Amino acid sequence: MPELPEVETVCRGLAPVLEGAAIARLTLNRKDLRFPFPPRFKARLEGKRITSLARRAKYLIASLDSGESLIMHLGMSGRFLIVRAENDLRTTTADFQHEAGRLLQHDHVVIETEAGDRIIYNDTRRFGFMDLADSAGLAQSRHFKAMGIEPLGNELSGETLARLFADKRTPLKAALLDQRLIAGLGNIYVCEALFRAKLHPEAPAGSLAGIDGAATDAATRLAAIIRDVLIEAVEAGGSTLRDFAHADGSLGYFQHRFRVYGREGEACAAQGCAGTVTRIVQSGRSTFFCPICQAKGRIRA
Ligand SMILES: [Zn+2]
Repeated sequence: MPELPEVETVCRGLAPVLEGAAIARLTLNRKDLRFPFPPRFKARLEGKRITSLARRAKYLIASLDSGESLIMHLGMSGRFLIVRAENDLRTTTADFQHEAGRLLQHDHVVIETEAGDRIIYNDTRRFGFMDLADSAGLAQSRHFKAMGIEPLGNELSGETLARLFADKRTPLKAALLDQRLIAGLGNIYVCEALFRAKLHPEAPAGSLAGIDGAATDAATRLAAIIRDVLIEAVEAGGSTLRDFAHADGSLGYFQHRFRVYGREGEACAAQGCAGTVTRIVQSGRSTFFCPICQAKGRIRA
């Protein structure tokens, strides 16, 4: 499943092609993805110009000059492929290799721009979706109104974590994955951030707040590390799905090296630590951590 850094990578890959582009034609090869397409979807997109492309949590938002926004979610296996106009020298060999290698039956949506570029949405498992909403009321629309803070935005700080988690008895890892508190953080990056911050995944989330509700050192450290972990992954081009293509149409997905995630039984990566990466299951999801680096007693450190 694409996590936030992958979606950010896709956003950055699509932006040069979509921003400023007019949608000449929209082809829908079926009536729905995970949900039906919105009413008059084709008519509301064709002839409109995309003024900007942004990401919020794991959503892509294309603002249109009609006053509406096209909201796109990649679900479990969604990906975009870009085929540049034939006379465009930027078309690379990789695009054609990818064209030949993928299953056309999963090309569900094709956006053709006035410039002749084609942006193809391919989704094998069809958990992704597209929707339209008024740009002015976007924050209050159904996809975003209950959404927590953006982990790569300015709001994420030790103080924010302390305020969001104060009095919570839920495990730290569960609180970090709660999309109503922080939106877009997934299992992999939460494991990595907790490892680097040396915090036990089962520690009560409320322990990040001091007695007076202020941020503990651990909260400040964790906020900075969450940002670092995500930025590093964005820079590496994302990682989770091996067959998840870069938005620019190139093949494959960057293999990011995780320090704990997926490394059960391996020696801890922290220098001088004799610990072994351990896997436990929390809320049905695997948690990887080092029981020595992330000893429970260290939460107030
Ligand atoms: Zn360790």
